[in-house]
Amino acid sequence: MESALKRTWAEIDLDALEHNYRTLRAHVGPQVKFLGVVKADSYGHGCIEVSHLLQELGADYLAVSSVDEAAELRGHGITMPILILGYTPAYEVETLIELHVTQAVTSPESARAYSAAAVRCGAVLKVHIKADTGMSRVGFLCQGDHFAQAVSDITETCMLPGLEVEGIFTHFAVSDEPDPESVAYTQGQLDLFRRTIAAVEQRWGRRFALRHCANTGATANWPGAWMDMIRPGLLLYGCGDLAAPLGLKPVMRLKTNIGIVKTYDPGTTVSYGRIFRAERTTRMGVVPIGYADGLFRILSNRCTMMTAEGPAPQRGRICMDMCMIDLTDLPGIGAGDEVEVFGEHISVNDVAALAGTIPYEITCAVSKRVPRVYLRGGREIRRELLLRP
Ligand SMILES: *Cc1c(COP(=O)(O)O)cnc(C)c1O
Repeated sequence: MESALKRTWAEIDLDALEHNYRTLRAHVGPQVKFLGVVKADSYGHGCIEVSHLLQELGADYLAVSSVDEAAELRGHGITMPILILGYTPAYEVETLIELHVTQAVTSPESARAYSAAAVRCGAVLKVHIKADTGMSRVGFLCQGDHFAQAVSDITETCMLPGLEVEGIFTHFAVSDEPDPESVAYTQGQLDLFRRTIAAVEQRWGRRFALRHCANTGATANWPGAWMDMIRPGLLLYGCGDLAAPLGLKPVMRLKTNIGIVKTYDPGTTVSYGRIFRAERTTRMGVVPIGYADGLFRILSNRCTMMTAEGPAPQRGRICMDMCMIDLTDLPGIGAGDEVEVFGEHISVNDVAALAGTIPYEITCAVSKRVPRVYLRGGREIRRELLLRP
C-alpha cells in the first residue's frame, strides 16, 4: 500500500461529498427524498465509503446496477434501501429478497417472472416500475400508440401477487442539454411520465409511494421533475458542467508523484511513436501514471498536469504505466514532487473534453490499482486498494 501510494492515488474528499449532498438537498427542499446513485463503485469513487457516508447523512435510497453491486453493499454494512436499476434474471429473486433490495421491473415478461418466483419463495419482492418515456433502453414502452398497452401492462404488474410496487420511475435522454430541441424532448418525456402515472393510478386505485425521474440534468434544471425523490449520480460527485453553478465541489482528486527527471537536447523525441520532439533543451519528468491507471492514451500530447509551480504539459504518448510531463518552465519542480492529474486545479470536465468523452467515463476509468484515499476534515481516515493482496 505504501508503495502504491507513492505511485499514483485518488483522494476522495468526503467533506466535498457531504457538502454536495447537503447542497442538493437544500436545492430541492425538505419534501423531496434523495436517492444517491452509487453504481459502478460510485463512479470510481469507491461505493463502500460513499454509501456509508450517505447512510450516515440520512439519504433515503441508494441505486446500483446489478445484484452483485447490491450484495457488496449489504456485505459491508449498508442497511438502507437499495434499488437495482438494471435487469436481474428471475432466478435471482430469492437473493434479492434475502438482501432486502428493491428491483426495477423493466418489462411485462420480467414482471410476471419476478411475481412467480416471489410466490414460489413465499415472500414479497419490492419493486419500482421502469417506464420508458423516450430513453429507449429498458422499461415499459409508453410512447405514442404504445401508451394504452403500457398503462394496462403496468396496472397488471401492480396487481401481481408476490410483488410490492413501491415506486415508478423513468430516465431522461437529454435533460442536461440546454438547446431548445433537447428541452422540448425532456418536457415531452416528463409529460408522458406524468400521464402514465395518472392513468395507472386511476385504474389501479392506488398511488405510487415514490415517483422519481430526476437524474443530474433534471435535478439541476427541472424542478417539475423532482417529484417524490431525486436520483442524481454525477452531481453528487461534483462533476459535469452543472455542478459548479450549484456550488458543488469535485470529490475525486487524482494525484501522482514525479519519479525521474531528465534533461534532453533539442531534437530529442520522447516516448512511443515519437509524437513529441523537443524544440529546446527540455527538462522532462516521468510520472507513474498511464492508461492502465485510467489515463486515456487519447490524451497524449494534449493534457496538462498541475504542479506547485503551475501547469506542466504532458508530452509524448501516454504509456501503460507512465508518461512524461514538461518541467522546463517549472525549475523548482523535481523528483518526488506531487502532481495533480485532475481534481482541484485541473477540472475533470476539461480532461473529459480533451479525451472526447464525458466526466463519467474519466472517473469510472480510474483503475483498481490506484488506491483510494478517503479524507475527512482534510485528514486521511481510510485507504482502500482494490487489488487483491
Ligand atoms: C446512472 C443513472 C442515474 C444517474 O445519472 P446521472 O446522470 O449520473 O445523474 C439515474 N438514473 C438511472 C436510471 C441511471 O441509470
